[in-house]
Amino acid sequence: MKLQNTEFWVGSFHGCHDGTKVKATATCDDTRPEPYVWTCTCGASQSFPTHHDVFPTAWRHTHPTLWDQLRQRAARLLRTR
Ligand SMILES: [Zn+2]
Repeated sequence: MKLQNTEFWVGSFHGCHDGTKVKATATCDDTRPEPYVWTCTCGASQSFPTHHDVFPTAWRHTHPTLWDQLRQRAARLLRTR
């Protein structure tokens, strides 16, 4: 990912979506209405006014929670019945 002149790198998050390795890159650019943005290699991205939200959401996006995995497993079990 290439940074624009006004952008600063603030963090990288490595994870996976269904076995596919992904990386979300968080940047800050004061010229944007919401300066903090993360962009994932899967194409997803989100923007935030402060750094407080960018890290947890990027982490959650790249590491689908155990709760989500359990819910999917439960849904699969229910469907086979
Ligand atoms: Zn993603």
